[in-house]
Amino acid sequence: MNLREILYKPELTKEEIVYLLSLTDEEDINKLYERADEVRKEYCGDEVHLRGLIDFSNYCEQNCLYCGLRLDNKNLSRYRMTPDEIIETAKHIINSGIFTIVLQSGEDSYYDTDVIAYIIYSIKQIADVAITLCLGERGFNEYQTWKIAGADRYLLKHETANPKLYSIYHLHQQLNERLAHIRYLKKIGYQVGSGNIIGLPMQTIEDIADDILLCKELDLDMAAFGPFIPSPYTPYRNKKAASVDLTLKTMAVARIVLKAVHIPATTALATIDENGRIKGLKAGANVVMPDFTPSPYREKYEIYANRRCVGDDPRSCRSCLQLQIESIGRKISTSRGDSLKMKIDS
Ligand code: SAH
Repeated sequence: MNLREILYKPELTKEEIVYLLSLTDEEDINKLYERADEVRKEYCGDEVHLRGLIDFSNYCEQNCLYCGLRLDNKNLSRYRMTPDEIIETAKHIINSGIFTIVLQSGEDSYYDTDVIAYIIYSIKQIADVAITLCLGERGFNEYQTWKIAGADRYLLKHETANPKLYSIYHLHQQLNERLAHIRYLKKIGYQVGSGNIIGLPMQTIEDIADDILLCKELDLDMAAFGPFIPSPYTPYRNKKAASVDLTLKTMAVARIVLKAVHIPATTALATIDENGRIKGLKAGANVVMPDFTPSPYREKYEIYANRRCVGDDPRSCRSCLQLQIESIGRKISTSRGDSLKMKIDS
């Protein structure tokens, strides 16, 4: 196959995606990153969107084999933030000049439909910021109520596009069910984010190619490709973390295939590589999600060990990121950073 030709093709086949993900020559890999950076510039410009994250509860009713929040992890000290604490934290995010608030938690039905709606509505009264929910699988009626309360976006990763592996990692749950939720969220007007975990046990390069193609089929507004990091007290605690290179290659190929989509340089990538954020932003990413969860909660949202920046003061986070982002000739966006597809549609 001819690398240059493939990098400039308007559509890629699964075989071509696998070929790109399998590149080993450093010069070739750099060509892939450069092409991804070019596509990123064409579709997203030089602005980097910041999404302020609030991990408001680490209780979880699920038992995903890779995740430190899993129900059976009795070694994790659990916390729940009150609605007031969550709204206060949202104010800090807004005051730092960030226009998207991500409310993330384990699957925790302690927060019922009304409490979540109250939190969304209260934040929307403060400023015209975008609200992204990342609460796992909830009821279809709940998604509707929260949309009416003012939620704009929903993140629900498909985790893996391989149905057999999906059922293994999630103890017999079905990929189809997950996809039904993602499609429903899109149908009722959410901007939807999904994505995978790279380097999970038993996963192949072909599976990752399918992940990228599934993101294309779902016509997502945001797609996240994060590396697997083993988490203590989980069945996968002794498994190997994903490689930085494979993660960057996946992000770059995803950019080339998906084009007008938001792609984050994930905290997980920053955790396995000191310069992960910058490397990600240079390989197709245009979003960073700084963590504003206050202490003593932030260190307890332990989906995996030693999360990057977990010991930092969230108030200094924006200036630190600004330095990094400007050092590569990019700038922090002053807009909400809504779906890139909305611009095309309107
Ligand atoms: N309960 C929510 C949020 C979960 S945390 C939900 O189910 O959507 C957000 C993401 O962390 C998950 O979607 C998963 O992709 C990721 N994650 C969990 N454990 C991980 C690990 N060990 N390594 C890397 N990413 C992990």
